[in-house]
Amino acid sequence: MTQKTFTVVGGGPVGTLLAISLARHGYKVGLFEGRPDSRQTNIYQGKSINIALSDRGWTALEKLGISAAAKNQAIPMHHRAIHSVDGDLSELPYGQSGDAIWSVSRGGINEQLLDIADAEANITTQFEHRLVDIDFASATTTFATNSGDELVVKADFAFGADGAHSKVRRLAHNVPRFSYSQTYMPQCYIELNIPANADGSHKLDKNALHIWPRKDFMLIALPNPDGTFTCTLFLNYSGDVSFESLQERPAVAAFFESNFPDAMEYLEDPVDTFMEKTAAPLFLVHVFPWSFNRKVGLIGDAAHAIVPFYGQGMNCGFEDCAELDALITQYDHDWEQIFPAYESARKPNGDAIAELSKRNFVEMSDLSGDSKFQLRKKIEAKFSSQFPELWTPLYSMVTFSPEVPYSEALRMGDEQNMVMEKIMALPNIEDDWDKQYVMEQLFSLASETLGGGK
Ligand SMILES: Cc1cc2nc3c(=O)[nH]c(=O)nc-3n(C[C@H](O)[C@H](O)[C@H](O)COP(=O)(O)OP(=O)(O)OC[C@H]3O[C@@H](n4cnc5c(N)ncnc54)[C@H](O)[C@@H]3O)c2cc1C
Repeated sequence: MTQKTFTVVGGGPVGTLLAISLARHGYKVGLFEGRPDSRQTNIYQGKSINIALSDRGWTALEKLGISAAAKNQAIPMHHRAIHSVDGDLSELPYGQSGDAIWSVSRGGINEQLLDIADAEANITTQFEHRLVDIDFASATTTFATNSGDELVVKADFAFGADGAHSKVRRLAHNVPRFSYSQTYMPQCYIELNIPANADGSHKLDKNALHIWPRKDFMLIALPNPDGTFTCTLFLNYSGDVSFESLQERPAVAAFFESNFPDAMEYLEDPVDTFMEKTAAPLFLVHVFPWSFNRKVGLIGDAAHAIVPFYGQGMNCGFEDCAELDALITQYDHDWEQIFPAYESARKPNGDAIAELSKRNFVEMSDLSGDSKFQLRKKIEAKFSSQFPELWTPLYSMVTFSPEVPYSEALRMGDEQNMVMEKIMALPNIEDDWDKQYVMEQLFSLASETLGGGK
């Protein structure tokens, strides 16, 4: 039997992981990346965004036998360190003791995956090859190279793993009955930096994700192994306090000094950086279908661009790869069955994590402002530790429970919400939250509503 061939468009983290998985199933894979090879050229100019990788991402990498190398470079973050406007610092654990999300460099993990791909005899990687066309009936792709040439590549199948601005997805607009929606969030973002101390150590607790929640906007900081922190300022595009309204230097300086006073001693030139940088938009993309003619599929951000407030975009993309990997085995390489099975398994989960991520901005940016929210988290944590079989907090389901699909987490989270609204409406809940009768009432409501299981 001749070896079947795949074209994977996009050598980002998801495309590269997909290429490795396909190669290990015996397919011959052409992996095409539009940009230069970051291992040879400094395309990140020394800086790459860092992201939080959690259990879904690690589980997917482990299933493909490659998490050890990636984890070497990762820093565990066990709790949120919440910086209030008056300088108070509080801690909110991410889950049970030992649970952590991990700060990884997006560029770093991409390069580790590219190194692994290079070692696979079945993968040929070509950089500076930008997809310009695809035939959805035959999976034939056309790439523009830097020398101005065009390369036409024939393959049995193709995947678009070319990210949130996917060209494959944009070309799919011409496919009959292709549904598409793109929604901008009010917030945009810029990245800032906290340098390391002179001795290379971190200026803030490195085992925390730092948050300066200010309700309509927020600053976050994730640690890097070199002692620096990569910070992200999320702020509305327009409105009273926004990228649009903050145009003059004095106003920008006043904005930072009044909202992030304790961060000012650490941040590197935040005002100049704010003035110089163009804020990047945040948007959600929903599409259907995710596959065409049993020949071409979409995966990762190309299939489900989501907002970063749950820290799940890459986790979800890696989970797409792991699930597809399992389906190849389950359906014994029959792509007539694999494409539809992949799409029906992953689309509801892509939609669910998009919804959860959108909602989580409010939760993250209001962490310190809303005392009822904090109290609710405390009650849930206490109940969950007493009755773990009855209640896993939504954050833990999404982040630490890869066995629970995102769509189930969303459904159960909504049910938990109804229960907690009743509990929070109890008279004197602020004073009585630790009393036995509250736990009893919660037990009875949870057993009734949640049907006794995760
Ligand atoms: C501010 C921010 C914070 C985030 N934080 C987190 C987090 O904490 N946790 C998390 O899990 N996720 C996070 N994410 C999301 C995460 O970065 C993405 O989900 C992830 O990078 C998606 O991987 P991908 O390979 O699908 O797409 P990408 O990383 O976008 O890679 C796509 C690749 O395709 C290439 N390409 C594009 N067009 C073409 C073309 N025409 N031809 C050939 N190649 C092409 C690109 O150059 C790129 O290398 C965050 C995102 C942002 C913006």
